[in-house]
Amino acid sequence: MATFTMPALRYAEDALAPVISKETLGFHYGKHLQTYVNNLNNLVKDTEFANSTLEEIAEKAQGGIANNAGQVLNHSLYFEQFSPKPASNVPQGALAEAIVKSFGSFDEMKAKMNASATTLFGSGWAWLCADNSGNLSILQMPNADNPLRHGLKPLLTFDVWEHAYYLDYQNRRPDYINALWSIIDWDVVAGRM
Ligand code: MN
Repeated sequence: MATFTMPALRYAEDALAPVISKETLGFHYGKHLQTYVNNLNNLVKDTEFANSTLEEIAEKAQGGIANNAGQVLNHSLYFEQFSPKPASNVPQGALAEAIVKSFGSFDEMKAKMNASATTLFGSGWAWLCADNSGNLSILQMPNADNPLRHGLKPLLTFDVWEHAYYLDYQNRRPDYINALWSIIDWDVVAGRM
């Protein structure tokens, strides 16, 4: 039977401050994500998904299994994409070219992602996604929805559930979103193409 485990953090819990504080990481990664992992392990027992991969479950399941698998997948992608000291503050190579082709410029992509993350009503995720032809798009997805359910590849994601930012930014969701750009590891995002 598959047992899902916590994704390893690539940085110390205090390393992303002040963009994401140690306190927020402690609750968001250490408590919220751990709960989704525990729930998923309990829910898939003795179901058709008992031997499936996380991606298969996040794409195909329904109800509580889909919600918890989606949250494990989404948070794994979210926490993996950050670095306290990114090698570059802008994407490079094929990813940079795909962004220009799909959006006109990196700044235009950023503006669309900011608008998507800011205007998402309630809890959910803003995504930069790629289709099979390498065309990029930005989409809002509620709750635990993810690009795999829409036949798309996830590249970059902003968690806009209040638990992602409330300790650090309270109601100022746009400030949280703007700050995230400074800790994106573009090598990780490019590796998802
Ligand atoms: Mn979250």
